[in-house]
Amino acid sequence: MSLLVVGSVAYDSVKTPVSSRDRALGGSAMYFSVAASCLTDVSLVGIVGEDFEEAHVEMLESRRIDVSGLERATGKTFHWSGVYSTEDVNQRETLDTQLNVFEEFRPALNTKHSESDFVFLANIDPALQMLVLEQMERRPRLVALDSMNFWIEGRRDDLDRIVREVDLFFLDEGEARSYAGEANIVRAARRIQDMGPRAVVVKRGEHGVLVFDEKDMFSAPAFPLDSVVDPTGAGDSFAGGFMGVLAATGDISHDGIRRAAIVGSVMGSFAVQDFSADRLTSLTTEDIQDRFDRFVRLTQFDGFENESGFLSPAKSSGNLLRHE
Ligand code: AMP
Repeated sequence: MSLLVVGSVAYDSVKTPVSSRDRALGGSAMYFSVAASCLTDVSLVGIVGEDFEEAHVEMLESRRIDVSGLERATGKTFHWSGVYSTEDVNQRETLDTQLNVFEEFRPALNTKHSESDFVFLANIDPALQMLVLEQMERRPRLVALDSMNFWIEGRRDDLDRIVREVDLFFLDEGEARSYAGEANIVRAARRIQDMGPRAVVVKRGEHGVLVFDEKDMFSAPAFPLDSVVDPTGAGDSFAGGFMGVLAATGDISHDGIRRAAIVGSVMGSFAVQDFSADRLTSLTTEDIQDRFDRFVRLTQFDGFENESGFLSPAKSSGNLLRHE
């Protein structure tokens, strides 16, 4: 099934505790589409400037990413720069954001894009996210949204409007608390679900993700890595893996959503192992399968084989109470 992402394509200047890189290819839609392209075909709608290198367009095309919606405008490509804390690599400070051509970005969908089954509205102005939805020829099977504090604090009404329209909402733990006005993360997620989305995916950095899907709750750890080179794009690569597998399988059941959270975590874990999308673009199917299998082993455990079912997860309901 077809998958569309609308968001930023950027050049990032990043300093991490390990190293630094200037003008690395970045942007939410870039990370998302490269990760998703490991699983399915994806279309990217975004904007770049005259300085955007042809080699980067070719890289996207070589992954069968449809870039017919990547507009080239007069001016410079969106530029973001950030530095990660040496004490806690999950903490980053934005040093500079130059919107450049992104300032005039008005996403325009062609016929193919407007008929997409799965849509990811990456972190951009919520009014633009609404503009994308309004151009859809028919209601997509699933629409997912990402946002950030900047919009929660500055464009609350526009954000509320788009949140009402989407099926899935990806956001960081702190953003979920701030958007819901609720410190307890379970209650915060439930409150956001009440605002519209069927599911809320709370990203918790190196602590993994919590997925609230209707009444179902699922927790996936982040894959433990002994070296993180650059955390930039982890969230968008997670979303790319998540939505990529939903679009590839068409399975949006509770089990499908749980599997998507693991595939998302697999892609997020690869993204942080190098700058830009360098690790993602070198992945083989075997690499992805291998890390998926490791994830299964990481979280799998057996209960006891005993008649009462005590501490036997497969027969868990009420067992612990019987032994109290
Ligand atoms: P993540 O680490 O998943 O939050 O995504 C980082 C990416 O988001 C970087 O590659 C940036 O180019 C991009 N980015 C940073 N700030 C913004 C913004 N205000 N709007 C859109 N994209 C942004």
